[in-house]
Amino acid sequence: MILKNNKTKIIATYGPACESDLVFESMIKHGVDVFRFNFSHGDYEFHLKGFQKVKEFNKKYGTHIAILADLQGPKIRVGDVENGSLILKTGHQILVTNVKQVSNLEKLYVSYDRLGEDVNIGEDILVDDGKIRLQVLSIIDDQTIKVIVLEGGELKSKKGVNLPHTKTSIESLTVKDRADLEFAINNRANWIALSFVRKAEDVLEVKKVFGDAWLYLKVISKIEKPEAIENLDSILEVSDGIMVARGDLAVEVPLERVPLLQKEIVKKCNKLGKPVIVATQMMESMTERSFPTRAEISDVANAVLDGADALMLSGETSVGLYPEKVIETMSKIIDQVENNSDIYNIESYISNENSHDYIPDAVCHSAVALAEDLKAEAIIGMTRSGYTGFRVSSFRPKSKIYIFSDNKPLLYTMSLIWGVKGFYYEGFEGTDKTIKDVIDILKEKKLLKIGNIVINTASMPFDEKSKTNTVKVTIVS
Ligand code: PEP
Repeated sequence: MILKNNKTKIIATYGPACESDLVFESMIKHGVDVFRFNFSHGDYEFHLKGFQKVKEFNKKYGTHIAILADLQGPKIRVGDVENGSLILKTGHQILVTNVKQVSNLEKLYVSYDRLGEDVNIGEDILVDDGKIRLQVLSIIDDQTIKVIVLEGGELKSKKGVNLPHTKTSIESLTVKDRADLEFAINNRANWIALSFVRKAEDVLEVKKVFGDAWLYLKVISKIEKPEAIENLDSILEVSDGIMVARGDLAVEVPLERVPLLQKEIVKKCNKLGKPVIVATQMMESMTERSFPTRAEISDVANAVLDGADALMLSGETSVGLYPEKVIETMSKIIDQVENNSDIYNIESYISNENSHDYIPDAVCHSAVALAEDLKAEAIIGMTRSGYTGFRVSSFRPKSKIYIFSDNKPLLYTMSLIWGVKGFYYEGFEGTDKTIKDVIDILKEKKLLKIGNIVINTASMPFDEKSKTNTVKVTIVS
């Protein structure tokens, strides 16, 4: 089954709204490439059913819809509050503790072990996406502090807490994350997203847990903390992909910085050939309405123009009323931008003699330049590691990108990468035969026809399985 043709991929968060087979299949037919499982919600039984749904669909239709497991990370929350709701009044002083209790107007509980040790007088504590703002007045002991309510409001149970100014010493991979990661590995997720990454070591910590799964499992760092912005280059170096997690990011940094940060992060990722996701509130109003706001239409279009590999939907698809319609609408906006703007052929490539990938990078870039000059229908890559897929895509060719591999898990991984469609192929006997075979496969699938020009990349000699070093032009006959 050939799904939609958008180059920019769509990630839909799985939830109760996609549980029915009819809705689930229709969402994929309208353009979902990756399902995200948010481990901040739902239990293992629920997630397992969702994982199975994706796998059964792939088996039935021969597709490569990927599974992204999004770990909660060290998210801090308030616990239960008295009667489910408290009104915090601006100007009131109140104690905050990490000793578990039902919160009341005298004392609030937050799930942060090192509260008194880490926070400093004058720092802000933001609750419920910043709707309530507290400021630290004094540290009473390791477990308790006194705050003043700078911006009051209604506080409900279990709301999130952000400490944007505090250097938090909380571990990056919590006990819950470790259990969730094990579940994701055992059930063959394709991507892991790591929340509240602060430094490169946080990513390396996750990779240490991978065991044999390192062969196929990839890590996305969610950029949502000021420290992650400071350490962006080193985080990028060790991550396989990045998410601009605008929900928490807009609470943790002054919100007016988010649009330019999005552009800066996307550009850096494009340059390095690392996939980048733009996430949160892309079509938020469609959680409850059947059409988006004008601002949301522009936001989606602008993320495509910025150069995102993938756009992510959260509540819109997990609990929203219109999960199919939201995918259909997003696909249409992506289509319109991709067909009517020049987002193609990134010209800013500068070869780097010190890179391990100096040669394959230049070969992939040449393939894209050649494809542009010859108006090639497709660039066809052969790869084991997937590097050619990531790299060719990063130069944003107008031609289609078809990647063949005998590494099955990689075909799912690549569903998240801009423009890439993966195909299984295990021949790899010699250049001429392989090129003929893959073209025949694409002809059979009606993706190529006689007379099309295609650009093949390969590594020669084939049996050495070294890095991509060859570009060949073929006219389909
Ligand atoms: C975000 O903060 O934008 C985000 C994607 O994280 P989550 O939805 O997991 O809180």
